[in-house]
Amino acid sequence: EQVSREVAFDGTGLTGDGHRVQLLANVASPDSVAAAIEAKAEGVGLFRTEFCFLDHAEAPGLDEQVAAYRRVFAAFPGKKVTIRTLDAGADKPLAFVTAADEVNPALGIRGYRTAWRRPELLDTQLRAIATAAAAENADVGVMAPMIATVDEAVEFAARCAAHGLHNVGVMIETPAAAVTAGPILDRVDFASLGTNDLAQYTMAADRLMGELALLNDPWQPAVLRMIREACQAGMAAGKPVGVCGEAAADPMLAAILVGLGATSLSMSPRALGGVAEFLRGVTVAQCRDAAVAAVAAAGAGAARSAAAVLLQSAR
Ligand code: PEP
Ligand code: MG
Repeated sequence: EQVSREVAFDGTGLTGDGHRVQLLANVASPDSVAAAIEAKAEGVGLFRTEFCFLDHAEAPGLDEQVAAYRRVFAAFPGKKVTIRTLDAGADKPLAFVTAADEVNPALGIRGYRTAWRRPELLDTQLRAIATAAAAENADVGVMAPMIATVDEAVEFAARCAAHGLHNVGVMIETPAAAVTAGPILDRVDFASLGTNDLAQYTMAADRLMGELALLNDPWQPAVLRMIREACQAGMAAGKPVGVCGEAAADPMLAAILVGLGATSLSMSPRALGGVAEFLRGVTVAQCRDAAVAAVAAAGAGAARSAAAVLLQSAR
């Protein structure tokens, strides 16, 4: 039967055999944290700060940013809140930073690259995050989007350190970052896989083009191999590697991500119950076996089918 029902999450992500996986929420504005709290998210795995400023013609000032970030920290006392610095450009243009004349914006000045042109925007944002975190005594992580090189990760970490921010990570959402996750993780504290962009860039398939959805699919074995590479680097370094793309919201794929070694899954609050329930119904060994099968599959459909067989058998 296909009855949709609300599944409650009790606030601790676990597989049936007790393997711990933090289940976190993606939030896009201070107003959207209510849903995350209601869903009992263990914290915020991705705060998309650019969504606070979509309607701004001018860059937000320090005080406005401090107020916005404080509201999110205040909503999660004692819990981890990971803030992503502005990911402007491509599908999320911001009037005050995105150039209108790029031929290929998905491959252009977006994410961390905007700091090449406008370093003062990043510095103001890091100052605002540090100020807000100190005021709320927050457990803050800061991460940069669209990192493609180890040098960028080093540079970002240094800029964060200059503002007293010491839990620093990067998003792994380019194939370049996935295949250099080892040396990147030698320089930062954590990484978070952005599977929406990682699928787009691995498969060379525009995430905004519905016609390419078959390719732009996180179940594509090529994408799963990128994820595996990054998770293995995390395990080797003893550093957390989570997932904050839409892939984490698909319960069966969430189990594959756990099998590949992801330490946390961050998703839209409404997906938390279903993912939590599915993970409680499988063992970590099942997740690993299913991940091996999915990675070896010939395509996204075959990966799904193989995973379904291996994840269902013990349920
Ligand atoms: C992603 O790319 O998977 C991600 C989490 O970032 P966004 O969707 O905001 O680009
Ligand atoms: Mg992204």
